[in-house]
Amino acid sequence: MLDGISPKPRTLRRPAELVAAGLLPPARLAEAEAVAARYAIAVPPALAALIGAPDDPLGLQYIPGAAELITAPHESADPIADEALSPLPGIVHRYPDRALLKPLLACPVYCRFCFRREQVGPDGGLLSEAELEAAYAYIAAHPGIREVVLTGGDPLILSPRRLGEILRRLEAVPHVELLRIHTRVPVADPAAVSPALLAALETQKPLYIAIHTNHARELTPAAETACRQLARLGIPLLGQSVLLRGVNDSEAALADLFRAMLRARIKPYYLHQLDPAPGTARFYVDPARGREMLRNLRGQISGTAFPTYILDRPGGLGKIPL
Ligand SMILES: *Cc1c(COP(=O)(O)O)cnc(C)c1O
Repeated sequence: MLDGISPKPRTLRRPAELVAAGLLPPARLAEAEAVAARYAIAVPPALAALIGAPDDPLGLQYIPGAAELITAPHESADPIADEALSPLPGIVHRYPDRALLKPLLACPVYCRFCFRREQVGPDGGLLSEAELEAAYAYIAAHPGIREVVLTGGDPLILSPRRLGEILRRLEAVPHVELLRIHTRVPVADPAAVSPALLAALETQKPLYIAIHTNHARELTPAAETACRQLARLGIPLLGQSVLLRGVNDSEAALADLFRAMLRARIKPYYLHQLDPAPGTARFYVDPARGREMLRNLRGQISGTAFPTYILDRPGGLGKIPL
């Protein structure tokens, strides 16, 4: 270290780095190495700073554990059948009026319960220029598509230039009325919500941003600032969460989460039932318990705080409210 200037903290990607940072006990290094051979790991500094222990609500979401290597009989590598509904690389078209566009499969953080965990990773899935052109052509050729949802991976880790170009091309399609981006960046790396990124997000057509967050502690002052800057552009912010055992499966944790979202200008949109991706059984919450918790919260918290509790049915049958 030179003259007391500390290096900028980096995203932790290797189990040994998690141990060195005090986020993983040395006794769990071997199991984490086994997980790392199969699934991507990334813990950015903003989230690392929030983890008190590997089994607290933040550690459980991001620190690898041996349970990930056990696939239960009902679990599937593609639980909601994205693949079967993909007419060409990067596009998923399940609902007539909406298409997903996945410009990349990398994320700022890899969640241990991710439903796309078999697909995502740091060097995966960046669409080539030709594949992007084919995706635009598909969208242009389907006049029923009113909304394009950019997801991935996390579209907000694209360079602002690249992201801006994609948004410009999509909004130039006459029948595309709405743009939407699904992201964890405001929570995982709030500093990435930079002036250049904000400039890229200035669209003519309405843009919605859905922010994935599962615990009130993730909505730090820095995350709130990032959200405020997005909201200032006139971008409505929606909240997406997954109901996760040990993370947010109590009335108190859900009330704290939804209230923290509202304070950050995020309207809770969906509370997802866990998708059965491989090695995620430890996060399972019975839907009957999920319904009971939301019922118990009625009257306790603002009506604006309630998301729709949703199940994405296996086999590509689509979402239904629970
Ligand atoms: C979830 C999802 C959407 C978006 O659904 P909304 O209910 O509009 O949020 C679109 N396409 C696919 C394939 C999806 O899985």
